[in-house]
Amino acid sequence: MLISSTTYAKTIIKGEIIAGGIILVNTFPGANVRLDGKEILVSDQGVFILGFQRKPKEIQVLQIIYDNKIVEEITLNVKKRSYIIQKIDGIEKEKVDPPQSFLDRIYLERKSVKESRNKALFIKELYYNNGFIMPAKGPISGVYGSQRILNGKAKSPHYGIDIALPEGSNVLAPMDGVVLFTDKNLYFSGGTIILGHGQGLTTSYLHLSKILVKKDEEIKMGHLIGKVGSTGRATGPHLHWGVELIGKRLDPQYLNVFKK
Ligand SMILES: [Zn+2]
Repeated sequence: MLISSTTYAKTIIKGEIIAGGIILVNTFPGANVRLDGKEILVSDQGVFILGFQRKPKEIQVLQIIYDNKIVEEITLNVKKRSYIIQKIDGIEKEKVDPPQSFLDRIYLERKSVKESRNKALFIKELYYNNGFIMPAKGPISGVYGSQRILNGKAKSPHYGIDIALPEGSNVLAPMDGVVLFTDKNLYFSGGTIILGHGQGLTTSYLHLSKILVKKDEEIKMGHLIGKVGSTGRATGPHLHWGVELIGKRLDPQYLNVFKK
């Protein structure tokens, strides 16, 4: 995929402005930034990232501010996407509609994942700026955004990419970062790792058979973090790979904006 770059008077935008996309922006040191009036995390050097949800607002306004004055205003026209419908049958019944007895457990797991992800907001180090590789290479068996029908029931969209690989295949850190969360057996996602890469950006790795990192560990791109499995809600071994930026669930394919 070609990565485009647009230069404005003070600001350079790299990446595609599209639903599920992520862009890398360089402006000047000391700048403050707002997107549709909302403050954005920016490094002292003027570096920041923005993400666009599955169904984003089509026109968003980026303001670069210095000394309480708007120095530059950039209108972002966010490209829409259409999503496929994916039907998956043969999933264990209780993994599609969990019995009452599991609801407390699921609630607590979601809470703990959310709390761990929130810690990503405090990672000032711009790990994402050190490069990007794929965490695993294999056939893509599930794409971002698809509307899913599991055992005949409409469920929430698929927020990630599924890579089909044999049980035990290596999963590598696609970028430098810090381990925010690990759990061997979450109800839906099974063996799970969440990494933080700076300014609220997180990536997650689900259904793992093995976890080879510890919480708070700092890791480098290419580090072996775990092994592919089929734990949690999975019909066969695969890696589910997800990306989130401050509450927005993005399409992992657009992380290639960080490729050196
Ligand atoms: Zn998946």
